Amino acid sequence: MTALLNWAGNYAFQAPRLHRPNTVDEARRLVAGSRQVRAIGTRHSFNGIADTQGDLIDLGALDPGLAIDPDRQTVTVGAATTYGALAAYLHGQGWAIHNMASLPHISVAGAIATGTHGSGDRNGNLATAVAAIQLITADGELIDVRRGDEGFNGMVVGLGAFGIVTRLTLDIQPTFEMRQDAFIDLPWTMLLTNLDQIMSSAYSVSVMTGWSTPTVGCLWLKTRLDEGSPLELPAEYLGAHAVAAGPDDPSLSLNPFGLPGPWSERLPHFRADRDPGPTEQIQSEYMVPRGQAMTALARLRAIGDIIDPLLYASEIRTIAGDDLWLSPSNGYDTVAIHFTWKREPKAVGALSAEIEDMLIPLGARPHWGKLIHAPASRLAGLYPRMADFRELMTKHDPDGKFRNAFMAKHVFG
Ligand SMILES: Cc1cc2nc3c(=O)[nH]c(=O)nc-3n(C[C@H](O)[C@H](O)[C@H](O)COP(=O)(O)OP(=O)(O)OC[C@H]3O[C@@H](n4cnc5c(N)ncnc54)[C@H](O)[C@@H]3O)c2cc1C
Repeated sequence: MTALLNWAGNYAFQAPRLHRPNTVDEARRLVAGSRQVRAIGTRHSFNGIADTQGDLIDLGALDPGLAIDPDRQTVTVGAATTYGALAAYLHGQGWAIHNMASLPHISVAGAIATGTHGSGDRNGNLATAVAAIQLITADGELIDVRRGDEGFNGMVVGLGAFGIVTRLTLDIQPTFEMRQDAFIDLPWTMLLTNLDQIMSSAYSVSVMTGWSTPTVGCLWLKTRLDEGSPLELPAEYLGAHAVAAGPDDPSLSLNPFGLPGPWSERLPHFRADRDPGPTEQIQSEYMVPRGQAMTALARLRAIGDIIDPLLYASEIRTIAGDDLWLSPSNGYDTVAIHFTWKREPKAVGALSAEIEDMLIPLGARPHWGKLIHAPASRLAGLYPRMADFRELMTKHDPDGKFRNAFMAKHVFG
């Protein structure tokens, strides 16, 4: 096959074969007959986590088969369905999920496998909504694993290593309306002295910034209208200035500010029906224990002059802790510090490695779907259940059919 690239174009897949089965049975036969196999989502990860030396399977041709269970308050969805498609369907039926990533174009299974997250002090990452998983195992069997089953908490943020997930069941809640408001020029000193107050001031809060300026670029507050969002914005918030509302312009890639709308069009930053902007970027991100966030931010500010020339923007968000073994928020609440870098692989590789060295001693865990430098020996110290994860993987996949170079480097080492 001609070289398949990830969305950003910074990673070329090694897999010699790509399959798009039309039925689950076809996918089962492929898995049973393959020596090395992985599922691929929408290819939005920035590393080789989805790659294999054998057969790549894209489930995008399968029927999404969306099914809501109003009594259990769950939705079951085909693994390759995008969050954008899921969100539009759920809102249309009067339902919602608790959170979205910035980008709605990513697949449900691909996002969950890497612990993808949005923001909000009370919001766990997207994987925390998973109530059940249906997957094809190494021998081609189709199994269901439910919350409460042995090993379930290890398999959810599974890095694609337990098999080909065909369907996922997610917790839902009644739909809600939201508004996102933006404030510019928040002084860095205000952010640092009021971090907890600012990050808890809305359902979902994002700080968009560089590191060398006296003010942060933009503060985004996403408020649920059913939780009493004020009708009028204050003109000023902790020294930052409110941005005027609108416009709701379908030609823009971002969802609008200051205008009420459904959660499905306010929780994600990007519109589902638009390209999100230049693909010439690389991303890295660290989930820092909340108690270490101030130290992490101060260390990054100290090298702000070195970071900013290579950076498009950073984003600071919060994530509630969970009990999923390889979730970057396992065991405690975290502050997520994200970098959207210019696509200058050499310079970004060197600087992001330096940043990783600076943050890992604080307990920071790298995002599984973005640039990662640390080998398994270093990452294992960050995850109390890493040994259990390896054992569970080996039990499910004794011949290593779903292993790849990424797993060898970052999980097994
Ligand atoms: C512009 C942009 C914005 C982003 N914003 C955010 C954000 O706000 N928050 C955040 O946390 N991350 C964000 N990310 C990162 C992104 O969410 C993750 O990289 C996510 O894993 C991508 O999903 P995908 O469908 O492209 O999966 P892929 O990259 O294709 O695959 C990721 C992993 O999932 C596995 N997988 C995929 N499908 C299956 C399946 N059916 N069965 C088993 N395993 C499977 C693959 O094997 C691989 O291990 C962003 C990325 C981009 C490019």
